[in-house]
Amino acid sequence: MNKILADMHTHTIASGHAYATLTEMCKEAANKGLEIYGITEHSSGIPGTCADLYFKNLGVVPRDLFGLDLRLGAEINIIDYNGTLDLGQEYIDRLDFVIAGIHSVCYKFGSKEENTAAIINAIKNPNVNIISHPDDGRCPLDYEALVQAAKEYHVLLEINNNALRDKNRKNVKENQKLIIENCKKYNHPFIMGSDAHFTTDIANYDHCGPLVESMNVDNELIMNYYPDRLMEFLRK
Ligand SMILES: [Zn+2]
Repeated sequence: MNKILADMHTHTIASGHAYATLTEMCKEAANKGLEIYGITEHSSGIPGTCADLYFKNLGVVPRDLFGLDLRLGAEINIIDYNGTLDLGQEYIDRLDFVIAGIHSVCYKFGSKEENTAAIINAIKNPNVNIISHPDDGRCPLDYEALVQAAKEYHVLLEINNNALRDKNRKNVKENQKLIIENCKKYNHPFIMGSDAHFTTDIANYDHCGPLVESMNVDNELIMNYYPDRLMEFLRK
């Protein structure tokens, strides 16, 4: 693998189910040589996560800690087939970037058509930069349609390391392969996400890295290697 320069999907203790502070996570991200580092706490649909107010006050955190280009965002829940997000615009406006994703605790898995509509509607939302782990077989998706929409609306789909070791999700590996195959077919990049909930997992791609490597993916399609091109997706 090339040198990983960006990891955009991680959590701190603020999310209620992670175990290190923002400072500790940043220090380790810098130790691992990241240039861009993203912390994305969950929005309110995940039980025990930080309150909305957390997102309103992110301005107090310096974005150059330990020499990083630190980006503070949220992993916002998609809660219905219209792609509705569970964080208000006044909070979204304070974020550096937005990850949107489906989580079973606050979304009712529907038909393939319904789930695909949910994510494509989120992709069409101009606030959204990345879609997290669209790979759970319990939530069937039309991957070709997803990648086409992601390309059209300049959004990245995530290949999530954590999902590959989560026993509750179904067919994650097969579905991630479908994402990658379609990204190759449509020449649209993707981003690998560690989904780290502790320092040791930052930029850890021990599951998704070998999967990506096994599929002969052109490096140009992997945004973790290209901070400048990644920034184009975060700016929108
Ligand atoms: Zn998630």
